[in-house]
Amino acid sequence: MFCDTIDACQYSQEINIMKNKKKSIGDLVLAYFKKHPKKDLKHGPVVDWVEEKYLKLYGRKPRDTWRQIRKFHEEGILIQVKKGVYRYDPDYIRKKELYDFPAYIKEAIYKRDAYKCVVCGRGRKDGVEICADHIKPKDKGGTNILDNGQTLCTEHNVMKKNYSQTEAGKKYFIKLYKKAVKASDERMIKFCKQIFDVYDEKGINSHIPRPNHK
Ligand SMILES: [Zn+2]
Repeated sequence: MFCDTIDACQYSQEINIMKNKKKSIGDLVLAYFKKHPKKDLKHGPVVDWVEEKYLKLYGRKPRDTWRQIRKFHEEGILIQVKKGVYRYDPDYIRKKELYDFPAYIKEAIYKRDAYKCVVCGRGRKDGVEICADHIKPKDKGGTNILDNGQTLCTEHNVMKKNYSQTEAGKKYFIKLYKKAVKASDERMIKFCKQIFDVYDEKGINSHIPRPNHK
């Protein structure tokens, strides 16, 4: 799991600051979603609404409204239901606050691990940035207690994330392999087998069984 880049608390502070300023594209996007909580909203009508409001306020069309929607999604404020459809759910945000490590737990995790990555042993003294990782990921129900935290350097944090992404890769090659078997495509069959061999050799994603044996 990634480090928690956006702090919900910090976020609401930012919102308060923005209230005193003129409305940004982000303010308008969020206002629309907040008006329709827990609803699956297609991004087209949201963009139209925001653009109309913006035009009235400033006499020109805003740029990249859709990008702002995507940014809110990346920050965990909007849920992407499917491509081009987003949802704002205040319960989800509350839950996110519940699962993210509060600052004092983060500090306790670092202290317990002597401010060093538990994989490579490097830390800030070596000029390496560290972060508090959820051992059991948040989206799999991992909570924000000390025992579920470990110190990782950014490199190993990214690696951990990438290893879970290789799951999708393996599943993809399983699909390709099955297709190749149907089509008796020997070259593709051989290619997929070689890929599966690499997975075996590195000992990753063994919980996803390969469709053939050596
Ligand atoms: Zn490391």
